[in-house]
Amino acid sequence: MSHFIRTNLSVPITLMLLFIGISTSTASRAAETDATPLVIAHRGASGYLPEHTLPAVALAHGLGADFIEQDILLSKDNEPIVIHDRFLDYVTNVAQVFPNRKRSDGHYYVADFTLVELRNLRVHERTNPATSRLQFPARFPLDKGNFTLATLAEHIELIQGLNHTTGRNVGLLVEIKDPAWQREQGQDPSRVVLETLKKYDYKTRDDNAILQCFDVNEVRRLRTELHTDLRLIQLMNEQTLKLPADAGRAQLIAALEKIATHADGIGPSLEMLLTKSRIPDDPQITDLIDLAHDAGLEVYCYTFRSETVPPQFATFAELVEAFTAAGLDGFITDYADKVREHLPAPVR
Ligand code: CA
Repeated sequence: MSHFIRTNLSVPITLMLLFIGISTSTASRAAETDATPLVIAHRGASGYLPEHTLPAVALAHGLGADFIEQDILLSKDNEPIVIHDRFLDYVTNVAQVFPNRKRSDGHYYVADFTLVELRNLRVHERTNPATSRLQFPARFPLDKGNFTLATLAEHIELIQGLNHTTGRNVGLLVEIKDPAWQREQGQDPSRVVLETLKKYDYKTRDDNAILQCFDVNEVRRLRTELHTDLRLIQLMNEQTLKLPADAGRAQLIAALEKIATHADGIGPSLEMLLTKSRIPDDPQITDLIDLAHDAGLEVYCYTFRSETVPPQFATFAELVEAFTAAGLDGFITDYADKVREHLPAPVR
């Protein structure tokens, strides 16, 4: 995984190694063998503040995240908005502000509102569609605070500004949401996101922005048609690889090798990486991480939450330690600080 050079491989050490005749690829491989996994703040510090708001970005930066994630949908006027759902329903007061703007399916769509209109909405902690109560009851109170939607550019300027004032180099993990559906609406989020990233000097695989998407065709399109040189992650759930239920190891390896022709890593769900065994002495983590590494792919896994520790693990610490030992490259988490707390100290 020589392309993922961690920031802990400092420039002077790289230069020194060059002087004594060790190639940088060897140096970076060595660094990565010992490297601490990346901590990626899922929708900002979403365990503590309403997801994807600028305060949640600032807190994630302060809590020590290496990367901060942005989910992108386009507004009616093609502005990249950082929001997870194509609907505004579960994280904003859209029904009060624009009661007549829902579609026939009862939903209010980001794609139906201009940026100026979206600026009128207040954002709140995520609610459960069935109950209208908080999805995670102990999270930020529904009736408190004054949060708003923000654009990708606003997220970038905040992160780059904090990088400047702290001397850190926190990166972006940008997810293109529902690209096939957005294209049906006449929009092309991948093109718009690439233009925005370019404007802020994220252009090559050495720049600190990574793109991710669940849509296999779109990840390929980003590389082969839109010709981005940014690092790409193929997000996946149980359905993504479309392998038959009786697929063998060879088919899985072939599928990973195909992804590796255009992507740099995979982003499986936590569930995909857990074995079904409840016998304590059995392995609790599948060998998908090893197979991906063999195919030349990094592995970033979502979502690590202290509220939902899988039953195989007694504590959040045990979960994080087990995945670190299994070689996971990146933890996508609502709690950057809690993951960081249980990681080995960074290599210096
Ligand atoms: Ca996401």
